[in-house]
Amino acid sequence: MERLFQASVDEVSRLLGLERAELALLEDADAAADDLLVSEYEKYVERKYNPEVPGVLRRRGLMGVPIREKYGGRGARQLVESLFLERMGQTGMGVITFADVHLCLGSLAVQDWGTEEQRERYLPRAAKGDVIFAYGLTEPEAGSDPASMKTSYVKDEGGYRLTGSKYLISNGSIATDMIAFARPADGKGVTAFLVDTKKKGFAVDMRLEEKIGLFTSDTSMISLDDVHVDREDVLGEEGKGLSVAYSALLNGRIGIGSGCLGVMEDCLNQVKERTTSRVQHGKEIARHQLIQKHVAFIESSLEACRWLDYRAAVKKDEYEKDPKDLALRSDADRLSAVAKYMSSRHAFESADRAVQCFGGFGYSIMSPVAKHFLDSRVARIYEGTDEIMELKIASSVLGREFEAYR
Ligand SMILES: Cc1cc2nc3c(=O)[nH]c(=O)nc-3n(C[C@H](O)[C@H](O)[C@H](O)COP(=O)(O)OP(=O)(O)OC[C@H]3O[C@@H](n4cnc5c(N)ncnc54)[C@H](O)[C@@H]3O)c2cc1C
Repeated sequence: MERLFQASVDEVSRLLGLERAELALLEDADAAADDLLVSEYEKYVERKYNPEVPGVLRRRGLMGVPIREKYGGRGARQLVESLFLERMGQTGMGVITFADVHLCLGSLAVQDWGTEEQRERYLPRAAKGDVIFAYGLTEPEAGSDPASMKTSYVKDEGGYRLTGSKYLISNGSIATDMIAFARPADGKGVTAFLVDTKKKGFAVDMRLEEKIGLFTSDTSMISLDDVHVDREDVLGEEGKGLSVAYSALLNGRIGIGSGCLGVMEDCLNQVKERTTSRVQHGKEIARHQLIQKHVAFIESSLEACRWLDYRAAVKKDEYEKDPKDLALRSDADRLSAVAKYMSSRHAFESADRAVQCFGGFGYSIMSPVAKHFLDSRVARIYEGTDEIMELKIASSVLGREFEAYR
């Protein structure tokens, strides 16, 4: 389908003053989105994981978008990463989930927290697509409160042994490496580890296929049974793993917000096409004012969330230039939560309104807007639920002494 709103996206790129290489990256993103449209839709209808996604991103040179050029990536700043994910989001949240986890939660965590040896070991292969990351924080008994995780480690000669379960892990069955978080069996403080998924004791217990949407994205349950990792596989400092986890989520939430923009764009495109061609009561339904109300909602949501997400991205870029500035970090953290919170809610409501504009066909699994309706719901749950975002945003306004997690 022709992208009816491409012109306004190009205008945004001009307003943001993108350089030639950045625009070329966005053209590659458009090409990848086009490559994926058919397989994403077909796999969604079959309710199956879409194995085409990593290959298409690899062929288009998009597996290392935010990875620095010296490690073989495209070196995109956060703003460009966001524009890239916005474009990919038009194919739906399945592709975004794969990309957000591999790029924002995985590759960027290694780039931000890894030693030089770790960066050289992982990032060039991640940029080529030979390494695919998963991010293992959630457990059956620890979701919104990761500090209560049970996965534990003991020290052994030359390294550590990890035991526990990780639940609802995106890319879990397809990842070559997982950033796994664990606490010492006999003490406090979570540590982040880079775990090769081929290691003895690492197992995919099951692919979670009974989801209400997001069929094209792999979600798995993982067990770690006395998995050995070397001392060199600790990411960041021992005992400081939650800092690694939260900083990855700061990146990831901006990315999820960006993907949700793409969802709203596609909803708007689909609604425009459908309502200007479908005739009821003697005229195109787009001529009925109550249909226009839905169009106006989706368009306003998109424009408002777009600038919010870009603002969070720009703030993150400012912080990157001055990583010692804690006020900048906390601003970027707040804005990434606001962007994810608002974009995910508006994407879901936009998809709901798009279903409404499509009428009975909208309720069919075959309609493109039903896919967004089912898939975008997850963005209000993963990488911090709506409620956790609300608590985080409120405490950033009220002050830490009012933090409601305590
Ligand atoms: C498809 C999918 C993919 C995912 N991918 C990943 C992944 O790749 N890696 C990963 O680590 N995790 C992943 N997750 C897990 C996701 O991050 C968690 O589901 C999420 O953080 C919520 O945790 P929970 O499911 O345990 O819910 P719970 O924490 O049990 O929350 C249940 C409800 O209680 C509310 N609640 C909890 N605490 C509070 C509080 N203090 N105040 C107010 N309300 C509260 C929550 O907001 C929610 O509404 C994924 C989840 C899904 C569905």
